[in-house]
Amino acid sequence: MDKIYLDHGATTPMKEEVLEAMLPYLKGHFGNPSSIHAFGRESRKGLDEARRKVAASLGAQPEEIIFTSGGTESDNLAIQGAARALENKGRHIITSAIEHHAVLDTVMHLGKNGFDVTILPVDQYGMVDPQDLQKAITADTILVSIMTANNEIGTIQPIEELGRICRDKEVYFHTDAVQSIGHMHFQLQDQPIDMLSLSAHKFYGPKGVGALYIRKKTRLEQLVFGGGQERKLRPGTENLPGIVGLGRAIELACADIEGKKQKLIKLRDKLIDGLLEIDDVLLNGHPSQRLPGNVNVSALYVEGESLLLSLDIKGIAASSGSACTSGSLDPSHVLMAIGLDHQTAHGSLRLSLGESNTEEQVDYVVEVYKETVTRLRKMSSVFKK
Ligand SMILES: *Cc1c(COP(=O)(O)O)cnc(C)c1O
Repeated sequence: MDKIYLDHGATTPMKEEVLEAMLPYLKGHFGNPSSIHAFGRESRKGLDEARRKVAASLGAQPEEIIFTSGGTESDNLAIQGAARALENKGRHIITSAIEHHAVLDTVMHLGKNGFDVTILPVDQYGMVDPQDLQKAITADTILVSIMTANNEIGTIQPIEELGRICRDKEVYFHTDAVQSIGHMHFQLQDQPIDMLSLSAHKFYGPKGVGALYIRKKTRLEQLVFGGGQERKLRPGTENLPGIVGLGRAIELACADIEGKKQKLIKLRDKLIDGLLEIDDVLLNGHPSQRLPGNVNVSALYVEGESLLLSLDIKGIAASSGSACTSGSLDPSHVLMAIGLDHQTAHGSLRLSLGESNTEEQVDYVVEVYKETVTRLRKMSSVFKK
C-alpha cells in the first residue's frame, strides 16, 4: 500500500490547480508590483486579483486583506500591532490556554513587557466558556485573541458569541483561523471579528504565505519598517507567486465546503469509532464541535512517540501530542489544559484527515493502530493488565 498521509493539521499537499496559477509568476511575470511600467502592472494585476479572491472567500473587502509570510506572522502582526497601537488606551490582553504558540508566545512576550495577560481556561473538551470571557474583560482590556478551531484536538470555539462580547465592550477580537479555512464558512462583514489570521499551506496552498484580515478602522501599528507595501503594515516586495497561489487555494477551499465537510466527517467518525474499539483508548477534544478532519486519541500505557515511529514504519504519517519535536519531553500545553495527566498526554496521537484520504486507508490505519498498541503494551512496564 502507498504511504498514508494523516497529518493535514501540520501541512497539506499543494493542489495542481494552485501550481498552475503560480507558474506564470515564477516564470514570465517577474515585474515588481510597485513598478509603474508594463512589467510591474502585470504583476500588480495578479496581486490585486489574489486580494479580491481572498476577500470574496471571506465576505470581506479587498482593502481589509494584508498578505504576510504565514499564520505565525499574521498572529504576531494582529497581536503586537494592536497592542502597540492601543497601549495608551489600555494594557490588558486576554487569550486562551489552548492557543497555537504563535499566539500564546506573542501574548506572553507582551506580558513580560508591560502588558497584563489573562489566559482563559478551557473545559475538558477544549471549549472556552463565554461567561469566563465576559468576566475577564476590564476597563483596561484592549484585545482578545481566541482561535477559531484548535490545531491539536480540533475543538471549534463559539467565536460569534465570544466576538459579540468583545464588540459590546469595545475590545478588539482577533481569531487564529489557520485550521478553519475550507472547513467553515466566513462572512466577515457580518461577523463580530476584527482580525483573522490564515495560512495558505493549511488549505492546499504554498508554504510561507498567509494573510491577516483587518476590519476597516481597526488600529494597528506596523512591526516591520521599509516601503509602503500592504498599507505599510507589511512592507517589502511581495511574494507574488505565493500570494497568487494563496488566492487560488482559498477560492478552491471555500467552494463546496458543505460537501467536502460531510465526506471528511464520515471518514473522521469511522476512524474514531475504529480506534475507540480498543480498550483504554480515549478521544481528546469535543465529540461533535470539532474540525471535520481531526482525530486525536490517547492510548493508555503507550508512549506516543513509539507509536508514531511504528506507524511511520508501516507507511502512516501522523503526529504526536507531545512537544518532543522541540527537544523537550513536555507534553502539549493543549492536552494539559483539557486536564490530561502526563501519561495520558504522552500516549496521544493526532491523525488529521484531508481530501485525498479514503475509507480503505481508514480501515488499514485502524488495523495497524490496533496491532501496534497491543504490541507496545505487551512491551510496556507500566501496562499491568
Ligand atoms: C499552522 C498554524 C499556525 C502557524 O502557521 P504558519 O503558516 O506555519 O506560520 C498558526 N496557528 C495555527 C492554529 C496553526 O495550525
